[in-house]
Amino acid sequence: MTAYVMDLHTHTLASGHAYSTLQENIGAARERGLQILGLSEHGPAMAGGPDPMYFRNYQVIPRQYGDLKLYCGVEANITDYEGHLDLDAFTLERMDYCIASMHTLIVPPGSVRENTRASVHAMENPYVKILGHPDDSRYPLDYEELVRAAAELQVALEVNNSSLHPLSVRQGAHENLRLLLRNCMRYGVSVILGTDSHFSSAVGDFTQADRLLRELDFPRELIINTDPDRIKEVVNHR
Ligand SMILES: [Zn+2]
Ligand SMILES: [Zn+2]
Repeated sequence: MTAYVMDLHTHTLASGHAYSTLQENIGAARERGLQILGLSEHGPAMAGGPDPMYFRNYQVIPRQYGDLKLYCGVEANITDYEGHLDLDAFTLERMDYCIASMHTLIVPPGSVRENTRASVHAMENPYVKILGHPDDSRYPLDYEELVRAAAELQVALEVNNSSLHPLSVRQGAHENLRLLLRNCMRYGVSVILGTDSHFSSAVGDFTQADRLLRELDFPRELIINTDPDRIKEVVNHR
């Protein structure tokens, strides 16, 4: 497997429906030989998700663990078709990065136009550098429009390893990601792999995503996870 050195999409107990601690995720990331681990708890609109205060207190967490560097962010919820998020700029600017995603408990699936508008508007938020799991047939998207917007706004589209798992609640991820990735190749747009792990054993395990990328002969230089320096492209510049 290609060496993937970072995983920026992971959850802990604090997300409400994940089952490992941050320490356990850090241990798993080190065992896998990751260089960068990102903590991306669900935003506060998610049932059982942490309070905004949780995200404003990240400065208490040490960031270096041997060769592993930790970044602390959020998987914010897109709350409407205008692409609003469930955290404001005051909180977002206090953390390292922000993934924005649509979840059925927060925003009901809309038409292709509505879902695409919600996603593109969320990507226009200067704190959003990753669009989470744009791969779900329950939220159909115009992939050409999405990929072109990602290029213009310099936002990374996520290839979510959990979506490709046979037990995933998200639907049609293989076909949707093939379409997304072909558009990325056509327009030279980079993607980021995320495990979306809700248990420590999944941290850094990109087996499904890697298989799909190989099948498509997707260029390595368009995968942010292959180079630790490319973390700069998805974190807040301060
Ligand atoms: Zn999500
Ligand atoms: Zn997630």
